[in-house]
Amino acid sequence: MSGGSLTIRDAEVGGRAGQDVRLRAGRILEVGEGLSARGLELDAHGGALICGLADHHVHLLATAAEADSLRLADAADAAGLAERIRAWAARRPPGSWLRATGYHERTAGQLDRDDLDRLAPDHPLRVQDQSGGLWVLNGPALALVGAEQGPPCVERDAGGRPTGRIWRGDAWLGERIGRAFPPLARVGAALAAKGVTAVMDASASTGPAEAQRLAEAVRSGDLPLRLGLMSAGPLEAPADGAFSMGPVKVLLDERDLPPLGDFIGRIEAARGWGRPVAVHCVTAAELALTLAAFEAAGARSGDRIEHGGLVPAEAIPMIVRMALTVVTQPGFVFERGDRYRSEVDPAEHDDLYRCASLLEAGIPVAGSSDAPYSAADPWAAIRAAASRATRGGRALGLRERIAPRTALHLFLGDLARPGGPPRRATPGAAADLCLLKAPLATVLDSPSSELVAATLVDGQVIYEAR
Ligand SMILES: [Zn+2]
Repeated sequence: MSGGSLTIRDAEVGGRAGQDVRLRAGRILEVGEGLSARGLELDAHGGALICGLADHHVHLLATAAEADSLRLADAADAAGLAERIRAWAARRPPGSWLRATGYHERTAGQLDRDDLDRLAPDHPLRVQDQSGGLWVLNGPALALVGAEQGPPCVERDAGGRPTGRIWRGDAWLGERIGRAFPPLARVGAALAAKGVTAVMDASASTGPAEAQRLAEAVRSGDLPLRLGLMSAGPLEAPADGAFSMGPVKVLLDERDLPPLGDFIGRIEAARGWGRPVAVHCVTAAELALTLAAFEAAGARSGDRIEHGGLVPAEAIPMIVRMALTVVTQPGFVFERGDRYRSEVDPAEHDDLYRCASLLEAGIPVAGSSDAPYSAADPWAAIRAAASRATRGGRALGLRERIAPRTALHLFLGDLARPGGPPRRATPGAAADLCLLKAPLATVLDSPSSELVAATLVDGQVIYEAR
């Protein structure tokens, strides 16, 4: 419903204080001082009114599932890991699935089925690696999914026994475990509270069932946002616009890169569906293969490099020449920066999650969270992009620092044009808006989602701070 009129009073708009903004039929009707009273009113108390933020790369169903999972990212060591899993198992009826995420090898080394059997003998348990690409299952879980007869994603030891590790096997595991879709309302509310009005779901695993579930959540208001969906295969947007089609997602795995010819074939298939291509590129090898594939198949407007986790300087001119967009996650600098500093070759530190150098080269750069792999909070990402500070307070790639306002702009491009010009709250624009508690310069001095006062989509208030 977007028919009613709403007037926002005393907002800072486009750098001008004391503006009133009238919304009607889901659009900004007029902006000016002292607009006459008409319909509902919202007092901005001098805060800035900007367009709602877009998170250009998230995984909504995984983020929702996360809410029902045990987080292992902060388990300190093997004893801590064991304690967390035992306590979690004790609260769940024997035989029910346990799901844990965010595991990193530094905690207790690379896990296998036998390790997990010792920790949770009475529950089927699956533990996801922090990269998102690896699940480790214990014995009961392997039996339930039929791993003995499983596909090549099931790792086996020399004797052919499954080790418990399933590499990039989400689609197969989903089929075997059954897809009980998690509720999405919490995720929708959390995004709204951060001023987010649009998200692009970048999951390669999205098929018709996932798309339908997400569309239902948009229609019911559980996800009160503009939604775009990537998918690996063909998919059509519904007539009611519950979601729009994003690029075709190509998920690469450095351990098992596809032959160049196959990759080119996938790009050509996407062209047949009239869609651009977005490629997961975290490592330099993934990026090199991607650039070779785009070179051979021909890049077109809208093609994207997702993550850009490691971009060697010599790749930048190629990205420019092919007019590719980079959709990055500055939040990883904060969340994983301390680990990068100790584990990545210092000669490559400047290549990690580049930002300034890409923008200077003229490459369109967009911001995103990759939630649930980093926090679904664009303001935390804006802080990280502007400071390049790690959680431990160290600096990572200071050369890649950008101004806070530039960092905000990474999240203001249109969903269909990430890295494009920032949307502006001007008459005629969609009333997808973020009202802040202070003028923009004040907010950008210390960016925080705490400073979001209200969020509107299609002229409707979907979040209001208390
Ligand atoms: Zn992702």
